[in-house]
Amino acid sequence: MMRQGLKFSGIFLLILLAGCTASAMSSPLPTQVATAVPPASTADYTGSSSGALAMPLPPDQALPTETATPTAVPAPPNAIIQPFGTSVQGRPLVAYRFNDGPQHIIFVGGIHGGYEWNTITLAYEAIDYFSTHPEAIPKNVTLHIIPSANPDGQYLVTQSNGRFTPPIAVTDTVPGRFNANGVDLNRNWDCEWAEAAVWRESQVSGGTRPFSEKETVALRDYLLAQTPAVVVFWHSAANGVFAAGCPTTDLPSVTLATIYGQAAGYPVHQRFSSYPVTGDAGDWLTTQGIPSFTVELINHESTDWPQNMAGLTALLNYFRSD
Ligand SMILES: [Zn+2]
Repeated sequence: MMRQGLKFSGIFLLILLAGCTASAMSSPLPTQVATAVPPASTADYTGSSSGALAMPLPPDQALPTETATPTAVPAPPNAIIQPFGTSVQGRPLVAYRFNDGPQHIIFVGGIHGGYEWNTITLAYEAIDYFSTHPEAIPKNVTLHIIPSANPDGQYLVTQSNGRFTPPIAVTDTVPGRFNANGVDLNRNWDCEWAEAAVWRESQVSGGTRPFSEKETVALRDYLLAQTPAVVVFWHSAANGVFAAGCPTTDLPSVTLATIYGQAAGYPVHQRFSSYPVTGDAGDWLTTQGIPSFTVELINHESTDWPQNMAGLTALLNYFRSD
């Protein structure tokens, strides 16, 4: 009964959210969106270590005037869809929840929006897998999968509020990395935060203060409310697993990153060190006593599904008590 109730209330909330889009329509559109195009082979997390000055990206491309028209989607078998907030342009943020055990394990895709659309595809692939293989989740675990932590950035590239069909025939996806205020949502958390943040050799906005963006606030509050055993962020594309830590190495995060990374066959790193990353989500979580790590997919198209299924399975089984 409780699960049914949650499910219906989730759908009701989505309908309510759809009714809120009129106010989003009247909001002025942001103008500070970067448009620089990196070389296709350059990874998200692999920056120059030469110490070159970060260069600001040109703020000249407005986001499309298309407003959010979220519609309720039915939950897949064995899952509950839980809305937990909205984006700047009014698109819903949702988590797919499986099982109801006391250990909460959370995966987050798409914090860099359409620029890393394959992390969203991976999240939906995992949702489909666990919907049809509920026995793969230990009884003592609640599994949360948040497919798209930056739905406005996703929309800019995929023209979709939810699932979409890859491959995405877009080459310049960099603006889709940011939210509708032009902020990098993985530079907006309160660990070594800086307004002038760095991504590779470019300067990007970390927001006007830590947690200045409503997507960040909604995700932070959702994560804290679960008291999770671990939070995993899917990014692309640096081909590796990076443990979080603030200001230095966080050993519980390293342990869990190693379990996932070794099972998945990704190189495992104690920290990301190619260039300074400020305001990182996982780093901040470790200051709250929550272990976290980032999985960087191999490229910007593949979901590396066999690898990530192995990593997911190993991590779930690590917490298995039955
Ligand atoms: Zn990323």
